[in-house]
Order: sequence, then structure tokens, then C-alpha cells
Amino acid sequence: MPMSRYAVFGHPIAHSLSPRIHAQFGKQRDIAVTYATVDVEPADLGEALERFAQQGGVGANITLPLKEAAYALCSQLSERAQRCGAVNTLTRVEGQWHGDNTDGQGLVRDLTGRHGLDLRARRALMLGAGGAAHGVAPALLDAGIRELIIVNRTSERADALADKLGMPKRAHSRYWEDLGSLGDFELIVNATSASRGGSDAFDLPFSLTNSRTLAVDLNYGEASIPFLAWARAAGCHDAVDGLGMLVEQAADSFRLWHGERPDTDPAYAMLREINPLLVTA
Ligand code: NDP
Repeated sequence: MPMSRYAVFGHPIAHSLSPRIHAQFGKQRDIAVTYATVDVEPADLGEALERFAQQGGVGANITLPLKEAAYALCSQLSERAQRCGAVNTLTRVEGQWHGDNTDGQGLVRDLTGRHGLDLRARRALMLGAGGAAHGVAPALLDAGIRELIIVNRTSERADALADKLGMPKRAHSRYWEDLGSLGDFELIVNATSASRGGSDAFDLPFSLTNSRTLAVDLNYGEASIPFLAWARAAGCHDAVDGLGMLVEQAADSFRLWHGERPDTDPAYAMLREINPLLVTA
């Protein structure tokens, strides 16, 4: 009987913090966890997941840019994964992959719990329409935001996400060039990977912000510097990175696999020890 294995699949993936976070959760709960990284391109994901299952793989996290590809490979999907159209957690059940998505819940838990922020009645702007945006948009709507506008570099993807959420496109999805005419928002979520390419995508109009604006970058560490710097320069009230979302969504994945949700505080302490600059709050 092969050992139960877990892994995170992505491209690139070498610098993922997920193996350390899951090892901390396992140690804390006295559960032996074997959790690896697998670098794979979207077209090869199906084959890689089957190989992983043959080697004892029973659970997987899925990250950039594979969440929509993973969704298409599942034989069963949770209700929230269906709403997201993207999957970040796979569980092997009777020879098949079942898909769920804990990203949105992780983000909302971090903002409303750890940071004590109130998301209700905020007018919200989402930059990006990839796998992460798909994952968090339904949870933000459920958390009571007043209105959601999605802006993506490739506008067809913003239209497709608005459609999937049952919102009229063009009213809720706009072009990047429209950013200067959209008014101001109390919540701005950066769900793009733009900072990874070192682009000038965050030369955004300050007119998007007001004195209540909460700016949230789903990126963390170095990759969150450009957007958070823009948010501070624009005078946003709060600016939060995506490390909390990473830890909280991981705890929810751990619960799906092991039946119990670990404490997340020891994981933040562990991350602070590895790199004090990583955890700022
Ligand atoms: P995807 O590859 O699915 O989507 C990338 C998104 O970024 C698309 O909307 C893309 O637009 C946009 N984008 C890329 N480059 C640029 C640019 N130069 N200018 C403007 N837009 C750009 O990635 P994900 O959605 O999975 O991830 C997005 C980011 O969120 C990643 O950096 C990831 O690390 C982070 N993330 C963090 C998590 C956490 O737990 N904290 C969880 C999940 C993701 P287009 O459609 O035009 O290509």
C-alpha cells in the first residue's frame, strides 16, 4: 500500500510556501504529511495527476496557471467550485478527483477575521479575471459587497467571469482603458500576476480610491510590492497582501483532507521565522 501523498501543482512552483505550511499543520495536529511540489504546464496536468494518483497521491492543491484546467478534469465538483469555475483543492475519492475551491473563503477569513475588516456595502473593483479572480469573486459577493466591477487586460475574460457570476457584462466587466472613468471604490483587489513580469500595470489612476479604500493584493512577498506601493501612494486606508489568504485557504484544504482545521497562528509564526519581511501583520 503506497504512502498517502499530497502535493501542490503549478508552473512555476519551486518557491511555493505550501509544503512548509502543510508540514506545520501536520506537526501541529500530529498527522504525518508528505507534501511535494509538481511543476507542470496546463496541457500536461491530467497525465501528471494520474501519475501522482498511481504513486499514492490522495490530495492536491492547484495554483497558477492550472486552476481552470483542474476544474475541467474533475469528476465531481463542490457547489462553490462550480460557482468559481476553478479548482484549488483536489481529493482522490474512489479512483477519481473531486474538486473544491477554498481560495475565496481563505481571503474572506483573512480580511474579516485576522484583519478585522468589514467588507459589507463596499463598492469593489477586481483587477484580473484568471483562476484566482474566479476563486475569490463569489466569496466577495457572499460577504456582502455592494457592487463588483471586473477589469481585465483581456476584456473577453472579464466578460466571461461576469457571465459566470450571473452579472450583466459591460455593466460589471470593463476594459483596462476604462479605469479612469469608473469612479472610486472602497475595495480594490489585485488578482493579476502582472508584478511577476515587472510590468507597469500598476500605474493606475488615483481616482479609483477614496479615504475608505481597502486595497488587497492576492500576491505576497516581493510580488506584492508594486501594487501595495501604488495603494499607499494613492492614499488608500488599508493595504493588505495575499499571505493571509494563502495560509487560510491552506487550512481549509487541510480540513477537507484530514477532517480538522489547524490553527493558523503557528503557521504565521513559522513563516515569520523563515523571513521576517513576509508576515507584516
Ligand atoms: P492566472 O494566470 O489564471 O491569471 C493571471 C491574471 O493576471 C489574468 O487576469 C491576466 O490577464 C492578468 N495579467 C497578467 N499579466 C498582466 C499584466 N502585465 N497586466 C495586466 N494584467 C495582467 O493566475 P491566477 O489568477 O491563478 O493568479 C493571479 C495572481 O494571484 C498570481 O500572482 C498568484 O500568485 C496570486 N494568487 C495568490 C493566492 C494566495 O493564496 N494568496 C492564491 C491564488 C493566486 P489576461 O487574462 O489578460 O492574461
